[in-house]
Amino acid sequence: MAVSVEKENMAPIEKKLKVVFADPPFGRESKGEAVTESPNLGILYIIGYAKPRLPEVEFYYLEPFLSIEEHIERIRQIKPDVYAISFTTPRKELAYETLSKVKSLGLKMVIAAGGAHPTIDPQDVLKAAKVDVCIVGEGEETTCELLNKILANQPITDVVGTVNAQKNNGIRPLLKDIDFLPAWEMIDFENYDIAVSKKKRMAYMLPIRGCPNYCTFCSNPVWKLEKPWIRMRSPKNIAEEVNYLYGRGIREIYLRSDTFNVDIKWCLEVCGEIEKLNLKGMAFQCNLRADKLNDELAQKLRSISVWLVHIGIESANDRVLKGIGKNIVHADTIRTLELLKKHNIKVYGFLMLYNAWETNGKLEYETPQEVSNTLEFARKCLSENLIEYISWSITNPIIGSKLHDIAKKFDIASYNVKIGNCMRLPNISEEQMVEHVKQGMILQLLNGIQKGMITKKSYKRAAQKAVKILNM
Ligand code: SF4
Repeated sequence: MAVSVEKENMAPIEKKLKVVFADPPFGRESKGEAVTESPNLGILYIIGYAKPRLPEVEFYYLEPFLSIEEHIERIRQIKPDVYAISFTTPRKELAYETLSKVKSLGLKMVIAAGGAHPTIDPQDVLKAAKVDVCIVGEGEETTCELLNKILANQPITDVVGTVNAQKNNGIRPLLKDIDFLPAWEMIDFENYDIAVSKKKRMAYMLPIRGCPNYCTFCSNPVWKLEKPWIRMRSPKNIAEEVNYLYGRGIREIYLRSDTFNVDIKWCLEVCGEIEKLNLKGMAFQCNLRADKLNDELAQKLRSISVWLVHIGIESANDRVLKGIGKNIVHADTIRTLELLKKHNIKVYGFLMLYNAWETNGKLEYETPQEVSNTLEFARKCLSENLIEYISWSITNPIIGSKLHDIAKKFDIASYNVKIGNCMRLPNISEEQMVEHVKQGMILQLLNGIQKGMITKKSYKRAAQKAVKILNM
């Protein structure tokens, strides 16, 4: 509000509106896990966008590595006017517990929720956590409008892009210009650590928002509320951020957008701008699709020191790739892996077991033979150094994905067996699935040990995995 506080014989003191953005508190024992590898870029982007527009607001960020006690203590000290927590569906229970503890402090504040789960299911959040407002979809402009209303002491019930107990205010159009930087100044990079990296100081970066594809198993459609599905930052703006991070001591950047090579020409330009910076000792990782890589781009990636690319290979079977809407064929994967090897770029391959999809109203799914083909392909790639690291997941319908609806329709929804959550596929026994999962996990674990991925920080997880395999 910039609240005016007047005291006797004193000039009015302008008190800033205090706004806390928060991740669920995963605690320090979560160090080394994906949730604490990086600060929440969604939150940092909102603050980065809002700060210059709202000088009357003081922003705080409660980071994911805090324990729940530390998180609550910070709220007690800050006494915010607005508290906004961001979370995904698998983290909703922790978020609800946190919200309940925040509320029990009895402070007078507006409580908001944003991120993937409040976007997919705002009614669940309103019912379970009784927040004042859910921010749906991209948060920058919606947050600014919301805070402007609070500053002006106006009701916040009709802000486009929000849902509250009374009203759904519809979807806000996406930002056209995404050429701005997240609020990196709020971050101490010493607090973050990424499992696979060459350099100690590392950061995530988002050169692109969105993904033009629609794979059945992926939760990315959660954000496809509005078009365009893909927006790219200008190569110069990306290079500006790389330069800033370098100045902050960062020596490795993971270009974390879903797909970096969505447009080869743009991708070459981005690499060109980064190359011009001539930053000594800098390294990169990025996510690539297997169907959009040519020799020129592979060479350019190498020239800016991209040493590792992450590729969603998913399956070694064209029938499956087509069914899940991956829009690639297996030959694309082989060609891309060979091209990357030629340019001395390592690959982190992500594979899936027992995928399912719908064709002409009929349920289809991966056969045990097809799963065996994928396993065999992974073994071959590891032995020929076409893939450096692998990771498996057994397909599980994620809320927000097309597969989630398919699983509901055919009554094969997620259930918990000793291998974790998976679908109940007709004529495929649990024993059969367990056998394949076991093979995949052993391959992953042995490869991880061989490649030195089982470090001190990941030892606990590796040991838990080994026990799980032994108990299968
Ligand atoms: S799996 Fe990758 S390519 Fe497919 S929709 Fe998700 S982000 Fe896009």
